[in-house]
Amino acid sequence: MLLSLKDIFVNEGMKSEHRYNLSLSDVELSGIYPFKSDVSVYALIQNKTGLVTIDIDVEYLYSRPCDRCFVEVEKNVKEHFSHRLVESLESDDNDEYIEATDCKLDLSELVTTDILLSLPSKYLCKGDCQGLCHKCGHNLNLGDCDCDKREIDPRLEALKQLLD
Ligand SMILES: [Zn+2]
Ligand SMILES: [Zn+2]
Repeated sequence: MLLSLKDIFVNEGMKSEHRYNLSLSDVELSGIYPFKSDVSVYALIQNKTGLVTIDIDVEYLYSRPCDRCFVEVEKNVKEHFSHRLVESLESDDNDEYIEATDCKLDLSELVTTDILLSLPSKYLCKGDCQGLCHKCGHNLNLGDCDCDKREIDPRLEALKQLLD
């Protein structure tokens, strides 16, 4: 969605609101398409005493396997992002400022970038997920398995073999 911000940049006190659904269903992350629903986007752009800001609220269903137990988990995610919009950037080493070249802003591109940067690097079904037994593959969240889980130091293991 391409927005023209010319009026907002020149009129103090002016604001504009945008509400729409953005599809990220073709976004692939490590072989998975985790965006199961459209992203509902609400954006508020306003010029307060010459400073133009954008506030974005998003809500979407996100689903992919847990990094430890590999069970697929769906989460309803809500995020808020805000940026300052400027007509031109002096330098481009400032993430806080977004440049609206020729007073135009691609809202969908900004929202997509914000969402991708906000995704957790580790995705867990729950904070204390026990993962899988590395011997039999049993999901330890469902209870214990019968495997011997005592860790044997490889050096002791070699010694044990010598003694046997
Ligand atoms: Zn898990
Ligand atoms: Zn086991």
